Amino acid sequence: MIQLIDSYNRHINYLRISITDRCNLRCIYCMPKEGISLIGHDDILSYEELLRIACIAVKKGITKIRITGGEPLARKGVVQFVSALSGIQGIQDLSMTTNGILLSPAAQPLRSAGLKRLNISLDSLNPDKYTMITRGGDINQIIAGMKSAQEAGFSPIKINVVVIRGINDDEITSFAKLSMEKNLQVRFIEYMPVGMENGWEKERFVSADEIRQSIKTIGPLLELPSDNGSGPAQMYTIEGAQGRLGFISALSDHFCATCNRLRLTPDGKLRTCLFSDAEVDLKTKVRQGCSDDALADIINEAILSKPQKHHATEQVFKKCIRGMSAIGG
Ligand code: SAM
Ligand code: SF4
Repeated sequence: MIQLIDSYNRHINYLRISITDRCNLRCIYCMPKEGISLIGHDDILSYEELLRIACIAVKKGITKIRITGGEPLARKGVVQFVSALSGIQGIQDLSMTTNGILLSPAAQPLRSAGLKRLNISLDSLNPDKYTMITRGGDINQIIAGMKSAQEAGFSPIKINVVVIRGINDDEITSFAKLSMEKNLQVRFIEYMPVGMENGWEKERFVSADEIRQSIKTIGPLLELPSDNGSGPAQMYTIEGAQGRLGFISALSDHFCATCNRLRLTPDGKLRTCLFSDAEVDLKTKVRQGCSDDALADIINEAILSKPQKHHATEQVFKKCIRGMSAIGG
């Protein structure tokens, strides 16, 4: 089997494709309230271009693809795109991260199109606070979306929670309790300084370790071995719980040594590290008529330049220029 190996002997097999920088929410940790300046329509890769790049990447050794954004369900034709991607021979795992607002009618079509796993972002269980964090979102749409996703056979559904001090850190135990009652995986994500206008400040940061300490007040936390789908999350469960808990400690205990990811932005830039603004322009090459072999070589070169590690910590941070919504978090 062909494998993509970078300069630090990491096996790169995971591509996150951001299909749009548009979003129907304005989460306070991701975007300013007026939104970001959007990539022009002509600069967004078409589905045909995305598929071509995905096929080449899979031939080179990518086996896992996640569709993200912006809000992926806000781009028309996403179900057909999922269907086409799932037909690429060699893809073993096809997943999506969504804010869930448009999920309810889309869940079954996505499942039938071949989507295997879903992560849904939900940062508060309190309807008013949810609306505040997302600047306008209605939690009832997420609840309906989760229900449809369960009925469509997505299991377990993963819930992404970005923990921010003074905003939702008081709900850590409520989210943990949810994993006791339901077969859900709640993933606590450290607030990251990605993008220039995401409001990140040290005082707002809550480390994965601190989150775990809060959860221990409701029951013993048992560490679990990480599985194929858990990625960089450290996995735990509360004794007797149906579901599981994941902790993504991107800043306090970075997982760069095992990072297996590449990201493709909506305008066709390949990024090898979430925290680095270094990008390789695939769109121009594709539109100049570059051959598949030449594109494969460019992807290989990009992988060889993947940094050994990022240098952001909870103390020393550097905001990267593109925001999460334009990279594909
Ligand atoms: N719109 C979709 C959503 O919200 O699920 C997909 C794109 S969003 C950029 C992907 C993930 O990145 C979400 O789980 C979101 O919570 C997370 N995210 C965005 N900004 C973040 C930040 N500053 N720190 C940590 N996670 C962040
Ligand atoms: Fe949109 Fe997702 Fe960013 Fe929220 S986190 S503003 S839903 S892209």
